[in-house]
Amino acid sequence: MDQSNSTTFSLHEGLRLRAAEATLVEPYQFKLLRDHLRHAARTPFYKNIFRQIDFSPDGISSIRDLAGLPLTNREDIDQGQFMFDPGETMTSADIALTSGTTGEAVIVPYTTRDLDRLAFNETMGFYGAGIRRGDRVLLAVTLDRCFIAGLAYYSGLVRLGATAIRSGPGQPARQWNLIQKLHPRAIVGVPSFLLRLAVWGEENGINTRKCGIESLITIGEPIRSPDYSLTSLGKQLEDTWGAKIYSSYGATEFETAFCECSASCGGHVHPELMIVEIVDDDGELLPDGQPGEVVVTPLGVEGFPLVRFRTGDIARLDGTPCQCGWQTKRLGPLEGRLAQRLKYKGTTLYPEMIFHVLQEYATLAVYVEVRKAADLSDELTVVVGTDDQHITKQIVEEILQAHLRVRPKVVVKKQAEVLAVMGKDGGRKLKKFFDFRS
Ligand SMILES: [Zn+2]
Repeated sequence: MDQSNSTTFSLHEGLRLRAAEATLVEPYQFKLLRDHLRHAARTPFYKNIFRQIDFSPDGISSIRDLAGLPLTNREDIDQGQFMFDPGETMTSADIALTSGTTGEAVIVPYTTRDLDRLAFNETMGFYGAGIRRGDRVLLAVTLDRCFIAGLAYYSGLVRLGATAIRSGPGQPARQWNLIQKLHPRAIVGVPSFLLRLAVWGEENGINTRKCGIESLITIGEPIRSPDYSLTSLGKQLEDTWGAKIYSSYGATEFETAFCECSASCGGHVHPELMIVEIVDDDGELLPDGQPGEVVVTPLGVEGFPLVRFRTGDIARLDGTPCQCGWQTKRLGPLEGRLAQRLKYKGTTLYPEMIFHVLQEYATLAVYVEVRKAADLSDELTVVVGTDDQHITKQIVEEILQAHLRVRPKVVVKKQAEVLAVMGKDGGRKLKKFFDFRS
């Protein structure tokens, strides 16, 4: 298939489109959507789906017709890339792996054009975050091991005319050596690592606020609450670095990322790359401002085309005008994972909300356990590990009640004991959520 004429990925065109009013962008998106659906219809999966509902991409007359199509679940993509392979003479230039729901990795093939699309995505993301030609950016993220994000950042910077410093994750001493030698303006990294890096710097006599880092572009962990205020981790990061945070969100499967602009109120939706919808539990569209599951249709993807993919992430769209001048809607901070949603005393809670509240108490190790109660609601236990004798069960319960308006059961244990439970799986990250409901 030849999509090469449907979009020109240039910074100039990208900026023009973002400055345009929605009524002008829509006809443009409509053509991209129709091309995308035509391409998706060539994959075994969508050929079958579209046949079942007697749908032809040629029959759509508006981007709103997209909402009439079925959703694609994470379980669907576990069936493997062959279901999504357009089966033409398309060669993968790169193969990315992402963890599937069954534990088997999902293979996501990227064609040359998909990589170009991804690079453009990050070019716009970096531009929105204030990075310009000639700026140096330290990439403290994984660039290999079949991860795609690091590669995306790298190619986006190169495309923008900025300079990428591929330092990779970990090893604070080496990172600081690069920062002091090469003077980058910005760092891309995971929030918890960036904090560790700052602490290491301070402990080793470095003035982290005067090291020249002006921007932190974060990935993987949310640093804002739904009202855009910084979480405690976000605040600590801005304070210790004396830098501004730009949070980004994306995923390998949908080959698109959102990055905050200077206004710090959500990540702009890239109009030539993506249509975002927010749906309720029944898959019905929700209006802007209401939280629900993020459903994405990444336009123009060749190797792994998805239509209305359910991300499993909860967030909201913001269609209010943005101070930065871009007219596109923004996707707000992630509020939780659908699979981790808790029904507790008539309220909806996500473990993420509990972690945000307790993040302020850096000495605490925290995980959440959930079980089915007799009345089928969720029975919640917040397990806190601390060696500080002043922190009691009652104090933690009161803190949670003040922020969440419900009072989950709290158990306080020794920190080492709690950390041992969280690290039992031996995974890269400590486990913070234990679901015993099924
Ligand atoms: Zn903006």
